[in-house]
Amino acid sequence: MLAAINKYWDLRKLVFVGLAATAFAVCDAESTVVQKEQSQTAIDYSQRKALVIGVDGMQYEKLQEAIAAGRAPNLAQFTIAKSYIGGVVGTVTQQSTYSGPGWSTILTGAWSNRHRVTGNDSRQRNQTKSIFRLIKEATPSRRTASIISWNTINDNFARDIELAYIDRVEKCSDIDQCVAEKASSALRFEVFSFVFAHFDEPDLTGHAQGFGDAYQAAIQGVDTQVGQLLAALRQRQVAYPDEDWLIIVTPDHGRAAADGHSHGNQTLSEKTTFIAINKPANAQLSAPISDPDNMNFGGLYGNATQADIVPTVLAHLGVKPNLLDYPIDGVSLIGELGVRLLAVQINNTARSATLKWRNTSAQGKPLTIYRDGKLLATLTDQVSEYVDNDLKNVQDGVVDLNYTVVVNDVPQSYLARANFSAAISSNPSLLMR
Ligand SMILES: [Zn+2]
Repeated sequence: MLAAINKYWDLRKLVFVGLAATAFAVCDAESTVVQKEQSQTAIDYSQRKALVIGVDGMQYEKLQEAIAAGRAPNLAQFTIAKSYIGGVVGTVTQQSTYSGPGWSTILTGAWSNRHRVTGNDSRQRNQTKSIFRLIKEATPSRRTASIISWNTINDNFARDIELAYIDRVEKCSDIDQCVAEKASSALRFEVFSFVFAHFDEPDLTGHAQGFGDAYQAAIQGVDTQVGQLLAALRQRQVAYPDEDWLIIVTPDHGRAAADGHSHGNQTLSEKTTFIAINKPANAQLSAPISDPDNMNFGGLYGNATQADIVPTVLAHLGVKPNLLDYPIDGVSLIGELGVRLLAVQINNTARSATLKWRNTSAQGKPLTIYRDGKLLATLTDQVSEYVDNDLKNVQDGVVDLNYTVVVNDVPQSYLARANFSAAISSNPSLLMR
């Protein structure tokens, strides 16, 4: 089911036009012309900036209700499409639909088999490269901020804070208005390339009262605070008209049907999330794959995921992490597409790995496959499967193998887990000992 609302707006239009008149639909032909014009001139990435706004526990379907009722006029201006959280059930990417793993995925582009945040535990530490770190490693002078209502998020990223990958750190202790004010001030008066602002009220109200009038009021309240951030950016752009801001709004999980009080498990309602974006999205967001190999949850896995947010921000900022050590499971929602739905199945007995992916824009371009930085194969993008039989030298026991498939200079990775055993190895003499 195509759920995307096909409209978007350009932030710069918001600067000069009043808020009510800003829902500005641009036809596809016109946007294609604009994109072509932009690609002909060198992009000044120093003017590229990104704001990710977290709306904890905001259910996709309930946001749609709020928009239909006129209660979320600010969020209504974005392109909003369905996505999913919690990884793929029964695989290495599966993670609970709690907030800790969810926000860690949103801030790393990885599932919990990389970030290792498995629950709502403030003692857990992110174990993979965060968006903050990836930006800093590319351009140390770029500044980042994490201004959050649920303090555990910044606890989970304490290492990033200690290593100064996050310049501005604020814990607002469940007071969303504190987030609105501090983030507005940071956006308007300071210089950041990336700002993460997190609101918690929809989750708090959902736990206390479930879906209903209070939950709708919580969505309305956060929409107003999102409007406060957008207003701060409009004011900023009067002084900095050349800045180009990507804005994404996203929740960390859905809520259990039918009453919405809880979450954490693997149900369609808890896994269903959304991504709202202010830029023209590519097919990864706007054209879900209708026939994913895994059709569980009614084909939900054909949609974008919360892991796609980090690569989207990186694409906008012009940050290209090293392909030989690429730690991101998601796919950019803007610009050129690489492969989609990359998955790796390990056969421990045969010591092989089967990679499968989709390429929805195959044009005969080269496709390269890496495992842990080693080039395994150069194919074309019309191929959608590869078997890695060259695993003889991988050590026995549990070992993670990072596969990366690259098309159009756009990578996607998958961290597979092997558990090879010496007893099953091909050398029969080992069995005699
Ligand atoms: Zn919650």
